[in-house]
Amino acid sequence: MNEHDSEVISGMLSQRGYMEMPEAAPQAHAGADRIADAGADGMADPDIMIINTCSIRDNADQRFFGTLGQLKKIKARKPDFVVCVCGCMMQQEHITTRIRRSYPWVDVIFGTHNIHEFPDMLEELYENRAKADNAKAAATQADSYARAKHEIRSSKDTRVDRVYDDADEIVEGLPAKRLYRHKSFVNIMFGCNNFCSYCIVPYTRGREKSRCPEDIISEVRNLVADGVKEVTLLGQNVNSYRGVDREDRQWDFTDLIYALNDIDGLERIRFMTSHPKDLSDRLIEAFAKCEKLCNYIHLPVQAGSSEVLKRMNRRYTREKYLELVRKLREAVPDMALSTDIRVGFPGETEEDFAQTLELAEEVRYDSAFTFLYSPRPGTPAAEYEDQIPEHVKHERFNRLVETMNRISAEKNAAYVGRVCRVLVDGPDKKASGMLNGRTEEFKLVDFEGPEEITGQTVDVEITESNTFSLRGKLL
Ligand code: SF4
Repeated sequence: MNEHDSEVISGMLSQRGYMEMPEAAPQAHAGADRIADAGADGMADPDIMIINTCSIRDNADQRFFGTLGQLKKIKARKPDFVVCVCGCMMQQEHITTRIRRSYPWVDVIFGTHNIHEFPDMLEELYENRAKADNAKAAATQADSYARAKHEIRSSKDTRVDRVYDDADEIVEGLPAKRLYRHKSFVNIMFGCNNFCSYCIVPYTRGREKSRCPEDIISEVRNLVADGVKEVTLLGQNVNSYRGVDREDRQWDFTDLIYALNDIDGLERIRFMTSHPKDLSDRLIEAFAKCEKLCNYIHLPVQAGSSEVLKRMNRRYTREKYLELVRKLREAVPDMALSTDIRVGFPGETEEDFAQTLELAEEVRYDSAFTFLYSPRPGTPAAEYEDQIPEHVKHERFNRLVETMNRISAEKNAAYVGRVCRVLVDGPDKKASGMLNGRTEEFKLVDFEGPEEITGQTVDVEITESNTFSLRGKLL
C-alpha cells in the first residue's frame, strides 16, 4: 500500500513538472551517512526529499527518526532543501508531536488521508518561504541578510502541516508513476474495520471504504491500454470489499474478480491482502473458474494456536484456517500459498508456538513473512501484561525461520524440470545478462535472455532452485 502511495506521490509531482531523481540519495536502503553526503562527489543532490513512513513495526519508527536526524546536515549545507514526511506514522499523534517539537527542519507534514493535497501543500510552502524571505529582507541590512539566509533554516514559521483523522470520500483519478510498464497496483479499498489487537493500521488508515466498481474497471482498462498485463488489487482486507455501482447495486470482491477477468488484454490478476475470516467459498471457486486469477494467495495466519488467535482478535480458529487451505487446494491443486506469522505475541506459550510450527509443516507454505511481535503504542496488545521476553521471541523466531526456509526450499525444488509461464520484469540488477520475472505462483525466476523481452510472458524451463528463487532456461 505504501509503495503504491509513493507511486501516486511521484505521479502527481511529475504532472506538476517536478523530476524524480532515481539515483538520488537516499534510496530506501541508503545509510544515513550517504543521505547527509548527497551532493558530494557528484552524487545526485535533490532539492526535495519525501519520506513515506510505515508504522507496522517498531524498527521502522526507529529508522525514520534516525534518517530525519541526518537530514539536518543537508539543511545546514543547503538552506532551501525541502523535507516532507508522510505515511502511516503521521497518523499517530505522539509521532507528529515529536516531529513538530524536535525537528524544526521538517517543512511539510501530511497523512494517509490527504495525499492528493500534497502538490498544493508544496506550492504553499514555497509561497510561505517567499513571504518570509521578503519580510526578512525588508527588515534586515543587505549584508546581515546574506548571512541569515545561510543559517540553518528553521521551518517552523513556514511549515505546511495538515493531517486528518479520516477521509470523507475517496479521491479518484490521481496519476501514478508506475515502477513497471507491464504491471501495476490498483487500490480497490482503503482502511480496515478489523482491529486485530496488535495492529496499528485501523488507527492510521481509518475505516473501510470501497471504490466504485466502475471506477476500478475503467482504471484497469486504461492500464491495459497502456501496456499493463498484470494488476495487483490492493486493500488491507480485499475480501471485505463492498462496492456500490452507479445503479446502486452492491458488489463483493468476487463480483469484481469476475468482471476484471473479462477484460481483453489483461493476463494476470493478483490481490493482497485477504483476511481468512472473510475468504468465501465463491472466491475459492473463482480461482478455479477465472483463468486470469493467478494460482497464488497470500493468506496471513499470524499464529497456529486458536488461543493466541483469539487474543489477537483474528476471529478464526486454527481449524477454520486449515479448512480454508484444504478447500483452496481442492479447487486448485497446485495453488501456491504465502503467509504472515508473528512470533512472541503476549502470552504465547511454548505449546502455542509448537502449534505454529506444526501448522506451517501441515500447510507447507511456499513463502512466509515472519515477524517478531513488537508492541505498537495505542493498540490493545501493547497493554497486555504478559509480554514475552526478547530473548525468548528471538529464539522462537530463529526456529520458525529455519522451518519456513526449509519448506520453501523443498517446495521450490519440486519446480525443477517444469516449464513455467514467466512474466518478465526486466534485467537482473546484480547479474548482467540475466533477466528475472515471476511465475503465476509468484515464484521469482532468473534466466538468461535479451532485455527486449521485458514485459512479455515467456516459457522458462526450471533447471535449479534455492530457498527464495528458481533459475531456468528460456525456451
Ligand atoms: S486485518 Fe488486522 S492485521 Fe490486517 S490491517 Fe486490519 S487490523 Fe491490521
